Order: sequence, then structure tokens, then C-alpha cells
Amino acid sequence: MSQRQSYTITLVPGDGIGPEVTEAACRVLEATGIPFTWDVQRAGAAVLEETGTPLPDSVLESIRTNRIALKGPITTPIGSGFRSVTVAIRKSLDLYANLRPARTLRGLPRSRPDIDLIVVRENTEGLYVGIEHEVVPDEAAEAVRIITRKASTRVVRFAFEYARANRRRQVIAVHKANILKVTDGLFLRVAHEVAADYPDIAFQDLIIDNMCMQLVLQPERYDVLVMPNLYGDIVSDLCAGLVGGLGVAPGANIGDEAAVFEAVHGSAPDIAGQDKANPIATVLTAAMMLRHLGEIEAAMRVEAAVASVVAEGRVVTPDLKPGRPDATVVGTQALADAIIEHLS
Ligand code: NAD
Repeated sequence: MSQRQSYTITLVPGDGIGPEVTEAACRVLEATGIPFTWDVQRAGAAVLEETGTPLPDSVLESIRTNRIALKGPITTPIGSGFRSVTVAIRKSLDLYANLRPARTLRGLPRSRPDIDLIVVRENTEGLYVGIEHEVVPDEAAEAVRIITRKASTRVVRFAFEYARANRRRQVIAVHKANILKVTDGLFLRVAHEVAADYPDIAFQDLIIDNMCMQLVLQPERYDVLVMPNLYGDIVSDLCAGLVGGLGVAPGANIGDEAAVFEAVHGSAPDIAGQDKANPIATVLTAAMMLRHLGEIEAAMRVEAAVASVVAEGRVVTPDLKPGRPDATVVGTQALADAIIEHLS
């Protein structure tokens, strides 16, 4: 019998609930029977004192070498302090497409029915270039928003290629070109140009505020949504809320040279270290990683195991308890155990 292929993956546990949810996801991945070697790399406030930087070069080198990483969230100080390590990783490795699927989980009272959409968020520019300054101290401040033809073209093309490869029927470009006529105007023009190369896929554009209302009213109508960076960040949290919350929302950052898999949620300092974090978002993120590796059968087993655990509703983490009076509240690792039991 031929030996199973093994994979070396950079593992960035992150901080807050990151170490808890990535441990759970790694256990589920290992339970698939596929051999993994974890190249563990630390980043964030905890390494700042030791190394003088929240993002040591060794983290980026490891991801460049392995070309794939599973990452937990990393806390960013608000208002002052170091810039986001997560944004720095995405930019340094040119991970230009942030994929954030939102799918109905059957049996979850807070999950709206029949949703199966994917947000494709531009991941390298927009307001996230981090250029801002005070014009008049404490009175007026200014931020720079960059939109380029290059970044817009590749992310819109990515959305269409994704749609084609995954038998999706429609791509919508989301923008605010009525107000941001120059920046979003460029994004929209490029989206229409790229769409012309994909006559097999329906294309439409929608203004971001209307898009948000439509998503709340009839989310089941939507398929692939592509948009600039900040809109994608906000709309993907909105979509996570439609299917049960951040505890069940997976994600991936894809570039030409590497891919970093991380859930939509942040480090959740309010529940960190309390065994309350829902591991499902990171487990579904791990399933996206398996698909990326070509391990489709294993990915489907993991997704089916998660679906069964949620549908049965015998055990839940606290975030999934509302509307389920009969469910027993369990911790992060116990929920992972239930997923592992259902894997076979
Ligand atoms: P958050 O996503 O951490 O939390 C928002 C709410 O959702 C909180 O009530 C939290 O308890 C809950 N939540 C999140 N994940 C959950 C899970 N797996 N299970 C159960 N409940 C969950 O957002 P925030 O509070 O705005 O941000 C906290 C920190 O995380 C900030 O420093 C922010 O910069 C950082 N952040 C990092 C990333 C990343 O590294 N990818 C992403 C987003 C935010």
C-alpha cells in the first residue's frame, strides 16, 4: 500500500482564543488520518518583548517555505500601539483574496435557511494601507484609501475563477461608486471589464448600503460577492451573523505564492482562556485548507461531522445555546471531541 502524503503546515496559534481554537482544529485534522507536521510560529504582543517585533521574520519565512499556514487570531491594540500583525502577514505575502463563505448550518436556530454565499474581499489595499495622520492635532484627521487597477483586477478575476471552478452562477461587485467616484469608480470599471471575459457567469453591481439591506432581507439569493477591503470585512461579519455568528464563520487568505487559513473572528478577549470559544469556525477553516491541499474527501468528512454535531444539537458551546433548551453546554475541546467522534 502506498504511504499517505504528509504535509508540513505553519501553525500560528495567535493569542486570545487563538491557541484554544487552533488546538481543536489541529486535533480534528489529525483525526482524519492525514499526517501533519506543525511548524509552530508565534506572533503578536507576547513576542514583542522577546524579539522587539510582533511579527518576527521567522513567521513569514516559515509561511513562504511551507506555502500554507493555519492561523489563529491576533489582538491589535486599539487607537495606538503596533499595527495589525494579521494585516501585515496578508500584505507581506501578497495574499490578495480573502475568502469568507457563509453557509446555513441546519438545526441552528440562529442560522437563516438556504444561505450559501461567499464574500471575496480585496485583502491588500483600500483603507488597510494604514496611511493616516492628524491634520490638526486632536481636531481633524485624515486616512488614505488606495484602489489600484492591478489589485482590483486580480481580486475580481479571482472571484470569477472561483465562481467557475465551483459551479457558481453569479458574481456581484459591491461598491460605493456613487460617492467615491474616483476610487470605487475605478474598482467598478475594472469589475465590468473583467466580467466581460466570463460570459457564462451572470454579473451585476450593487451599492454597499443596498447590498447590506438585501443580505438581511433575502440572503439566500446571493452567490459570489466581490468588494474592496473594508466593505468585505464588514459584510463578512454581517454574513457570519446570518448563519449563526462568528463562532461558525471560516475564512482563507489566498495569494499566488502562499495561503493562510484563518477564521473570520478575532481574539475574543472577553472569553479567552475560559474554554468557551466555539472551535467550529476554525475547524471549517481547516476543512477549507484540506480542499486547498486537494484532500477533498477528508474536507467533506470534516464538514459533514460539523454539520452532524450542529444538527443533533446535543452539545453546544455557549454562543450556540440560545434557542436550544435541551443542548448541553460544553467547552472548546469537548466540542472538538464530538466532531472527532462523528468523523468516522
Ligand atoms: P472578535 O471577533 O474577537 O469578537 C466579537 C464577538 O464575537 C465577541 O463577543 C466574542 O466573544 C465573539 N466571538 C468571536 N469568536 C468567537 C468564537 N470562536 N466562539 C464564540 N464567540 C466568539 O472581535 P473584536 O472583539 O472586535 O476583536 C478582538 C481583537 O481581535 C481585536 O484586537 C481585533 O483587532 C482582533 N481581530 C483579529 C483578527 C485576526 O487576527 N484575524 C480578526 C478580527 C479581529
